Amino acid sequence: MHEFRRTQAHNPGGASWHPACCGVAAVVRPSAIVHDLAVPDPTGLSSAEARERLVTGGRNEIRRAADTSRWRLLAAQFESPLVLLLLAACGVSAWLGEAADAIAIGVIVALNAAVGFLQEARAENALHALRSMTAPRARVVRDGKQAVVPAAEVVPGDLLLLEAGDVVAADARLVEAHALTANEAALTGESVPAEKSVGRSASDVPLAERFDQVFTGTSIARGTGSAEVTATAMQTELGRVAHLIETATDEDTPLQRRLARVGRLLLYLCLGMVAVTAALGVARGLPAIQVFMSAVSLAVAAVPEGLPAVVTIALALGVQRMAARHVLVRKLPAVETLGSATVICTDKTGTLTTGVMAVREVWGSNRDQVIATAAACSDAEVDADGRNGVGDPTEVAIVAEAFRLGIRRERIEAQSPRRTVNPFDAARRRMSIFRADGHLYAKGAFESIAPLCREGTADAALAAVSMAERGLRVLAVALGDLAEERDLRLVGLVGIADPPRTEAIEAVSAARRAGIRTVMITGDHPRTALAIAREMGILGGGDDPGEVVHARATPEDKLSVVRALKTKGDIVAMTGDGVNDAPALREAHIGIAMGKAGTEVTREASDMVLADDNYASIVAAIGEGRGIFENIRKTLVYLLAGNTGELLVMLGAAAVGLPLPLLPLHLLWINLATDGLPALALVVDPPATDLMTRPPRAPTEPMLGRWEWASIAVTGLLQAAVTLGVFTWALRSRDLSEARNLAFTTLVFGELFRSFASRHATLLLWEIGPFTNLRLVAVVAGSVLIQIAMHHVPVMARLFQITPLGIQDCLLSLGLGLIPVTAIEFGKLVRRVVLPRSASGKVAA
Ligand code: ATP
Repeated sequence: MHEFRRTQAHNPGGASWHPACCGVAAVVRPSAIVHDLAVPDPTGLSSAEARERLVTGGRNEIRRAADTSRWRLLAAQFESPLVLLLLAACGVSAWLGEAADAIAIGVIVALNAAVGFLQEARAENALHALRSMTAPRARVVRDGKQAVVPAAEVVPGDLLLLEAGDVVAADARLVEAHALTANEAALTGESVPAEKSVGRSASDVPLAERFDQVFTGTSIARGTGSAEVTATAMQTELGRVAHLIETATDEDTPLQRRLARVGRLLLYLCLGMVAVTAALGVARGLPAIQVFMSAVSLAVAAVPEGLPAVVTIALALGVQRMAARHVLVRKLPAVETLGSATVICTDKTGTLTTGVMAVREVWGSNRDQVIATAAACSDAEVDADGRNGVGDPTEVAIVAEAFRLGIRRERIEAQSPRRTVNPFDAARRRMSIFRADGHLYAKGAFESIAPLCREGTADAALAAVSMAERGLRVLAVALGDLAEERDLRLVGLVGIADPPRTEAIEAVSAARRAGIRTVMITGDHPRTALAIAREMGILGGGDDPGEVVHARATPEDKLSVVRALKTKGDIVAMTGDGVNDAPALREAHIGIAMGKAGTEVTREASDMVLADDNYASIVAAIGEGRGIFENIRKTLVYLLAGNTGELLVMLGAAAVGLPLPLLPLHLLWINLATDGLPALALVVDPPATDLMTRPPRAPTEPMLGRWEWASIAVTGLLQAAVTLGVFTWALRSRDLSEARNLAFTTLVFGELFRSFASRHATLLLWEIGPFTNLRLVAVVAGSVLIQIAMHHVPVMARLFQITPLGIQDCLLSLGLGLIPVTAIEFGKLVRRVVLPRSASGKVAA
């Protein structure tokens, strides 16, 4: 719903700025005092001048606390107790003269830190880039033309253009004001919007009384105007009170917080285990070094080191992929919530429809007069050939139609300048302009204009309903002889077509297949709304029109729609663009602002911004959200099952008095290389084909449910059984190092191959397509080769204390490595029988 005339930002440079009133700019609130004022300099600054001032005066930014420095980020890599434990192990090995161990552990710790650092730096860069994409903007006049610039580039002397919904980018003195009020609660604490007008307030009065100025960080509640910038950055009133505004640190998502808790729990658990094993070893009189090393091995085996990085990467890359699909995420937790959305409440105009409007029908005795009157009550502009326009799309359609009929709006402005303007807003649903020729030109929704007319309007009412039933947006056009909106004559009706976006029609049905309802909320007439809803498939056979279509809706209605849906247990995504939509966006689980048509105020209240204003992008983003969740889930299951397997191998061997089947270094290698790399490929797995045919995930559904835990336990057991089996078998006829060789490679291959089965809970590998994740194929193939090569490269072999691997042993390990993946694929078939369809969405390892 837009409640103001919004200049389309995608064509900012093409617009030329005409002050609303060429001779006398005036305050137009009927009750307000009318100030005559000097003609504002309509050209603002030149671009060259603005650039120079930006260089000398600096950017218009309130200073923030420094972002995390790179050194902090690097240091943080060494803060985990696990890394400290490894460093201790490294130190102890060095002290005992075990140089090879010490170097190897040191290298692995350093690699781990480097990878962690790079991943986090990458995630941070991605978030930075996104932040700058959603950075606030301002409209100014540069070189005599209207331009949209980043708010940080506004300089003193700029002519700032203001309209309802703008966040004021700098402190400025008004040179023009039409029914202007500003919401200054942030600065003055005053909750009622302050009335603004042109004039001069005393310099020593409190902020709240400076009626002639607007201030950084406040927002325009109503009306339009322009103002000359007097102060920017830290010189502004906001800069003065907020000497240092803390950067809003990027919130962790609930999932990240939960995982951090799980990580801590695992850590304490394994530290406990380490202590117990150590105590037992000491009690049995084993040498201290052996006790220490097996304790460290256990700790390494149990902790999924890759876990936090995996989640960060999944979220950061997901957010980047969404940006490529025109969705800019402002708050990270929204990504998670998106996946469980059950309802999308969306605006109609420009989101479901193209927003490119055209006059389709005119009703009235004199067609030209209807259009001329409507054009005289418009602000939009069209270019020299009458095709492309700038301004409110409804008005662009009218001015373009006028152009076709040979009526030029500029000529109207020149011949009969404006005296007063009553701007359009969503509550009044009409606007009017009183001109120097003594006429008041008005247009608006039929119900809004008809009561102001003198004569009967019964015929027109019938015509308006019939137009609306054909899906047209109807404007009543009227003329008066007074400066006020009364005693008007109805001139006629204009029916404007706004065709649905074809991709939105497809997206509505895609959403339906995914168990997500679409609710249309519009300022248009109910009949227009119903016609469009039917055409787009929003209103199907079994749907209740009262539930899926809300017409003639006000921003307050939006708020109550969200609340009602939330009480019913829905997870609501809500779009908004108008100045008063912010509360509804905040109330919704996922507030979505419009990037093109939206106001700065709604953008600031939103969780994400639609760069192309397109409904289809919301549905695409929900798909991404679901995909991210699934990827994190399957990667987690993969990693935890791997750790469980390793832990059981070590505990099992200790329980039956076998020597250590794997050295600490082997476990580190498995965790970081053979588990870590497939995990990185799994977490960016392309979305499964059935992702958008399942119902939404319940927000209360845990990340790991019964099936996932069962799968972790069974897979871990199986992996451990195969590894210990081959180890004990080899020990019978061979020496320890050869038995270790076999245990090591069998476990590694088992882990690598298992990653393919982890891609889906119920679909078999060939059903998903074995080559749909080439990264995974490459990682697994590469790791298998490296694993084999390690045995034959002397440095590596010495480091890992392994010996060359014979062909037969190699084939044996490869064969045994296939057991877990085969078992999991078989398990999927069983699960399909036991648990048909409903829970099939979940992913098991
Ligand atoms: P949606 O929610 O679908 O995006 P909207 O909020 O854009 O719709 P409004 O712009 O509030 O809807 O328009 C509501 C009604 O106000 C329209 O049906 C029309 O009759 C009238 N109207 C719209 N634009 C103007 C305008 N520029 N001047 C006068 N009346 C207008």
